[in-house]
Amino acid sequence: MTAELIDGKAAAASLRHAVGEAALTLPRKPGLAVVLVGDDPASQVYVGSKEKAAGKANIVGSVRRMPGSSTQEEVLSVVRELAADDHVDGILVQLPLPEGLDADEILSAIPAEKDVDGLTAPSAGALVLGQEGLTPCTPQGSMRLIKAVESDLSGKKAVVVGRSILVGKPLALMLLDANATVTIAHSRTKDLGAVCREADILCVAVGRPEMVTADMIKPGAIVIDVGINRIERDGTRKLVGDVEFDGAREVAGHITPVPGGVGPMTIACLLRNTVVASARRQGVPVPE
Ligand code: NDP
Repeated sequence: MTAELIDGKAAAASLRHAVGEAALTLPRKPGLAVVLVGDDPASQVYVGSKEKAAGKANIVGSVRRMPGSSTQEEVLSVVRELAADDHVDGILVQLPLPEGLDADEILSAIPAEKDVDGLTAPSAGALVLGQEGLTPCTPQGSMRLIKAVESDLSGKKAVVVGRSILVGKPLALMLLDANATVTIAHSRTKDLGAVCREADILCVAVGRPEMVTADMIKPGAIVIDVGINRIERDGTRKLVGDVEFDGAREVAGHITPVPGGVGPMTIACLLRNTVVASARRQGVPVPE
């Protein structure tokens, strides 16, 4: 059996298109502000692609670039200024922040209704309580890919490997909300292989190249590989996931490739959150 590929690139393109159309139906164009502190090269690239993607989706993107030497108070005052700006519907503080800055305090200055990254305590609380809010982008993107394959998760057994605030924990909550029976595995889990083999839906967000192998996968399972790892093999640099793809593909029913799986969904969901936030702030129904 060879698994069907879940094409995250195509799914993300179609979501971005839908978001762009939805943005045009709002009374005012949605606004997304990104705060970038310091000159971390990876962050520069991520922020650049977010700004570009926003523009293509009819969202007014802006980047507040601040020097790496900025103080806590300076970053806080920029976030507070954006919080008070009526034309800004979404605020994203690019992480990681330079050493010496307190990310928790800075994130908590983002009002919940503008928290398009879904990473503040009120957003996490809303997810736990099943209340209206904005959900983190990578798990939201993973859920969209799962739902594209299997719309009804009732009675399905889901295993999430990884319990980070960014991915594992919120993804587990979203799967639970969708009526899956959920197990969360992590570095202290005993016999990870046996736990994973139970899964109809196996989501892996660990950050260890090719850690999950074919023998850990239930035949026919949906495998969502969130990992992005840069490795060097045979003298060339390449990106691999947390799942050993070639082997897993022979066992799984559906699988996301790396790259081209969950990765592209993250920015698409950020744009979707911005349109949702904007519609709510403008007091109009959230477009489909
Ligand atoms: P973290 O490092 O924050 O969390 C990793 C999790 O994996 C922890 O819960 C840890 O357990 C668990 N873990 C580590 N080693 C093992 C092991 N041997 N067995 C079982 N569990 C283990 O990572 P993130 O959640 O932020 O990211 C995970 C991966 O997803 C990374 O590769 C990252 O690059 C990628 N990622 C991709 C995104 C995308 O857009 N596609 C976005 C965000 C992340 P414990 O808690 O016990 O330490």
